[in-house]
Amino acid sequence: MAIYKEKISVEESKTSKIEQVDFSKLDFGRVFTDHMFVCDYKSGKWQTPKITPYQAMTIEPSARVFHYGQAVFEGMKAYKTDEGRVFLFRPKQNFERINKSAERMAIPAFPENYFFEGLETLLNLDNDWIMPGIGNSLYIRPFVIATEPAISASPANTYRFMILCSPAQSYYNTPVRVLVAEQYSRSANGGVGAAKAAGNYAAQFYPTSLAQKEGFQQIIWTDADTHSFMEEAGTMNVFFRVNDTLLTAPVSDRILDGITRKSIIQLAEDLGITCEVRQVKVEEIKNAARDGSLKEIFGAGTAAVISEISAFQHKDELFEIADIDSDNSYAKLFKKTLMNIQYNISEDVHGWRYEV
Ligand code: PMP
Repeated sequence: MAIYKEKISVEESKTSKIEQVDFSKLDFGRVFTDHMFVCDYKSGKWQTPKITPYQAMTIEPSARVFHYGQAVFEGMKAYKTDEGRVFLFRPKQNFERINKSAERMAIPAFPENYFFEGLETLLNLDNDWIMPGIGNSLYIRPFVIATEPAISASPANTYRFMILCSPAQSYYNTPVRVLVAEQYSRSANGGVGAAKAAGNYAAQFYPTSLAQKEGFQQIIWTDADTHSFMEEAGTMNVFFRVNDTLLTAPVSDRILDGITRKSIIQLAEDLGITCEVRQVKVEEIKNAARDGSLKEIFGAGTAAVISEISAFQHKDELFEIADIDSDNSYAKLFKKTLMNIQYNISEDVHGWRYEV
């Protein structure tokens, strides 16, 4: 990897914006660090990457990304310990996933050495922006856009790969209420649900806004064919605890292969908790809610780690999930176990931490 180090050109920011930022009042994703990573693709190859001050850029209005949404992204975090050590969590998974998403959107694969060299150089430059303390982190947003100024509906010949970083605060996330999708779908067989394609997220905004008007923060997406299987919760994978067994849907071309999800499946095995990876029928969960065997539902994703779900509605029937004692909550157990690994508090038996 090191042989590529000299290839990344670094233009350091002359001033830092960090003094202007109130780290106790961060609104997620609005403040960006001093630097960004940029790498252009042209003439059939990724060019020399560079790091520049975070700044606006010029892209022609005819760039294909604006017309056809040829764009993919990732979401990951850097965590800092009280001693100032910085860790990423399973970053290779993010790297592999962005290239899997890229392939589905006919975007050329990005080289692994550029990704890691770029990321590490950027994090070293913007190290002061990573606040220590459990729950505080630096959210990292790698993304690729089709920049070619040409509006024929075909893949572009030029792209830009970038990485932005945004400080994120520890926040107490209150349990959410969700609506189980009956009409809208986020993905279909053979579609792009398994890719972090930009348009997937735009397509969720409208149905989610309708759900919000009814008092639900998120939607549990169901399969597009029958709307009878639970698939994902908003932009998280979803787990159901029936009695002491966890249930989660298998990943497919409709469901994103979440890193938090796969980590929870592994941790469940480590902790001796049965986790069944199989299709989960909406009816099965409704019946479990009725007979009291449904103990917990939670979403799993990088942003919130675990997001507890306190109620769901399906076909106008509302199901409230009784509060569970903190000591017995799987959601709290997995959140703590994962964060202890992320912040270098517990042993890392699976080699998930990556020190920067
Ligand atoms: N599903 C969707 C649709 C997502 O956007 C995300 C966030 N990347 C997840 C699940 C969770 O994935 P991860 O645990 O890798 O953040």
